[in-house]
Amino acid sequence: MKKEITIVGAGLVGSLCSLYMTNRGYNVNVFERRNDLRSEIITAGKSINLALSKRGWTSLEQAGIANQVMKIAIPVYKRIMHDNKGKLTEQPYGNKDEAIYSVSRAQMNVLMMDLAEKNGAKLHFNEKCIDVDFEQSIVTFENTESKKNQNVKSDFLIGADGAFSVVRKKMVNKYKHDYDYNEIDHDYKELLIPAGKNNSYLLDKNALHIWPRGDFMLMALANLDGSFTCTLFAPKKGLNSFEGLNKKEEVEAYFANIFPDFFELVPNLYEQWLLNPTSSLGIVRTFPWHIKDTTLIIGDAAHATVPFYGQGMNCGFEDCRILNNFLDKYDNLSTCFENFSNERKPNGDGVQELSMHNFIVMRDKTADPKFLLQKKIEKKFSNLYPNKWTPLYSMVSFTNISYSEAWEIGMRQEKIMQKIMQYPNIENVWDDDEIMREMQSLL
Ligand SMILES: Cc1cc2nc3c(=O)[nH]c(=O)nc-3n(C[C@H](O)[C@H](O)[C@H](O)COP(=O)(O)OP(=O)(O)OC[C@H]3O[C@@H](n4cnc5c(N)ncnc54)[C@H](O)[C@@H]3O)c2cc1C
Repeated sequence: MKKEITIVGAGLVGSLCSLYMTNRGYNVNVFERRNDLRSEIITAGKSINLALSKRGWTSLEQAGIANQVMKIAIPVYKRIMHDNKGKLTEQPYGNKDEAIYSVSRAQMNVLMMDLAEKNGAKLHFNEKCIDVDFEQSIVTFENTESKKNQNVKSDFLIGADGAFSVVRKKMVNKYKHDYDYNEIDHDYKELLIPAGKNNSYLLDKNALHIWPRGDFMLMALANLDGSFTCTLFAPKKGLNSFEGLNKKEEVEAYFANIFPDFFELVPNLYEQWLLNPTSSLGIVRTFPWHIKDTTLIIGDAAHATVPFYGQGMNCGFEDCRILNNFLDKYDNLSTCFENFSNERKPNGDGVQELSMHNFIVMRDKTADPKFLLQKKIEKKFSNLYPNKWTPLYSMVSFTNISYSEAWEIGMRQEKIMQKIMQYPNIENVWDDDEIMREMQSLL
């Protein structure tokens, strides 16, 4: 008999998971709290984008939809740093042809919902999960329009309902699971650099632009329509924080002084400032991620992280791929879910460590010539000895090495690089064979 699956949340991870589960031949019902945004979201000009990297692509490939997503993706080969005079410095992400990809969140979500539906998944909108009976595998949904409740019973339930997951909340409360939410001291706000004439790009579209300013930063990624979605990450309070940015003069002076070349490109900055929300950022840690053979949480519901490595969605997509592999491997669902939970949790932790680490790299280190030199030396060594060294950014973005392993290896490599960077006169001798030999000996 076909398995009946309920998925809560038709966001990025829930949609991809529903595609995987229909590919397995399961009967899949997906319940989503929001409206069906498919027609309005594409035309509303919403252009929030995300960086998709290797492990995201691997999951899309295994689900059979990488080619369709590639049609809406823009390759990003390098970082371009903007200093406070508008001077630019470049840093390639990897070797030639290695890129991360900028993709519209809405377009990708819509595409995956369409494909899942074509594959047989049933999508139900305006249905908010309000309760779960984990023993019986029954979920209660409230229709947000009619306010009527319905109970849905299935063989098992997947909670893909995001950082503020109700499925997780009910699990944690009932089974006393570990849970921790850590909000960071920085908030963010999205702003748009409009397209130029005839949808031309006002900045290099194949780069991630960063305006690193110590403990805060602005970044930008290109959209298909010529615009760039930019995000300001700044402290909630204190110097250069959101706290002091209220009046038009305050906002305009902040950008004109700190991000002058960005300011020139955004004619309606203050209108956008008022219109777009300021949002908080946080890290969710919980364990375990399952209940017996009835329930599993994946994506942000299990491991929401801060966005500084561009890996939250990629990690959630990897959850879907690994879950699919585990369902192939184990007939017994309890064993399957328990092993999934045990294997993925260290990777959830790993992506969170990496994300916090990369915040410091992006906002601070990318403006430091010594850091850029360190990356150049690592790259040279890695090209000479690819089996001995893969730079941390490459491990995370261009391989499927687990996040926990990448974090561990990356920290070991960092210690070696700290020693190399102490080498006398390193700025002038970095390209000498002696430095490569020294790295070999430290390995
Ligand atoms: C500013 C920012 C930038 C980011 N950039 C990147 C990036 O470049 N690369 C990357 O990989 N990741 C990025 N991320 C992270 C990424 O957005 C998330 O990891 C990803 O969206 C998680 O997908 P999800 O489906 O688990 O959760 P969500 O996308 O949050 O989807 C959850 C879905 O569940 C629905 N839902 C919630 N509650 C209920 C309920 N009670 N009942 C029914 N439905 C419900 C929601 O409406 C939503 O549709 C970024 C995040 C932020 C905030």
